[in-house]
Amino acid sequence: MSVGNSAEHVAIIGAGIVGLAQAWLAAESGRQVTVIERSPRAAGASIRNFGMIWPIGQPHGDLYQTAMRSRARWLRLGAEAGIVVDPCGSIHAAHRGDEQAVLEEFAAAAPKLGVACQLLSPAEVLQRAPLINPDGLRGGLYSPTELCVNPTQATRRLPDWLAARHGVRFRFGVLASEVGQSAGRPLVVFSDGTRESFDRVVVCGGADFQTLFPEVLQNSGLLACKLQMLALAADSLPCRLGTHVAGGLTLRHYRIFEICPGLPSLRRRIAEETPELDQYGIHVMASQNDQGELILGDSHEYGSQIEPFDDVRIDEWILRELRHLLRLPAWKLSRRWHGIYAKHPDLPVFQAQPLPRVHIFTGTGGAGMTMSFGLAEDFWRSLQNQ
Ligand SMILES: Cc1cc2nc3c(=O)[nH]c(=O)nc-3n(C[C@H](O)[C@H](O)[C@H](O)COP(=O)(O)OP(=O)(O)OC[C@H]3O[C@@H](n4cnc5c(N)ncnc54)[C@H](O)[C@@H]3O)c2cc1C
Repeated sequence: MSVGNSAEHVAIIGAGIVGLAQAWLAAESGRQVTVIERSPRAAGASIRNFGMIWPIGQPHGDLYQTAMRSRARWLRLGAEAGIVVDPCGSIHAAHRGDEQAVLEEFAAAAPKLGVACQLLSPAEVLQRAPLINPDGLRGGLYSPTELCVNPTQATRRLPDWLAARHGVRFRFGVLASEVGQSAGRPLVVFSDGTRESFDRVVVCGGADFQTLFPEVLQNSGLLACKLQMLALAADSLPCRLGTHVAGGLTLRHYRIFEICPGLPSLRRRIAEETPELDQYGIHVMASQNDQGELILGDSHEYGSQIEPFDDVRIDEWILRELRHLLRLPAWKLSRRWHGIYAKHPDLPVFQAQPLPRVHIFTGTGGAGMTMSFGLAEDFWRSLQNQ
């Protein structure tokens, strides 16, 4: 049954950041929206991340612009939704000659790519981010576009704002166990035995490839990716971090740096010196949440490599590399955890339509906080004439 947009009732399955972004954009376009979340409150990848809104990591061109549109929406949420959004920017610090060379190559190319960033001297790096290790520091690349949010606070507060501002209805603690069709409309069957018809359903179930449409998700190329994370206690830190901080290892992680001719030799050097970092996908970054905690990570293990147990060696390697990057009087850990996200090897997000007016939208990889709002804008724009 075809209905006008304003009358359309949409179900979004999953209250992670991807589902919440879908809910916001659907409601903004005049649709009536219900969000269904199996947990009593969000507990997936969206509350377990660094809280980095990270345009600097996106490939230049359309995806960079999508990240910047998402960024603008985060700033709106900061102003309107009681969510703390810190426009802290980021620094990639170089402690080795090959890292500094890549930063210089990137800074030279950045104006043509439309990416705002600037090279800093060691003194300028320390002025902006005083916890960076001064020993052997060659310089840094500052970018003003990165934001910091507390992911747990943001993901759990957003539903209240969406309900109050846009009339979005939430059903927490209810699993959507099946999505089918009845009388030509999508039908959702719930774990409490109830069922409800909608005009459209968008499944944003993160890394759950088993419950809904497993035949599509398990043949989609999507992989689960597990990341180990740590936090340092706020009371052990002498001052604020200043900006988000990343080091030379991160230059081999984000695709935007692939334009740099010096990257392959940096990759080779790291592979030779520290093969365990490549084996477990380790690069190190730090953010600081509104509570003052330093959020540290991370590693990347994929698919069948993933065990339910956290590997203590991975935490040790992450901390070893962070000790090169940051200088702290004490390393007092307050929390350890892991998160799992869905990632497609080639796409910024995986989309499929397994039934009429039923969409799957997942697989934002390590950039869901950065990209979800912009990707949801594109999704609802693409449906305008359907
Ligand atoms: C450790 C870590 C660090 C990261 N750091 C960053 C970062 O700093 N910046 C960045 O941009 N990105 C980062 N990411 C990536 C980002 O967190 C993810 O891309 C994003 O959170 C994925 O959101 P999601 O909504 O798809 O998944 P989730 O947050 O996992 O949400 C999916 C939700 O769907 C629900 N669900 C699933 N199936 C059903 C069902 N059948 N019925 C009802 N509910 C269901 C689940 O309970 C869950 O709440 C990081 C990820 C991790 C794990």
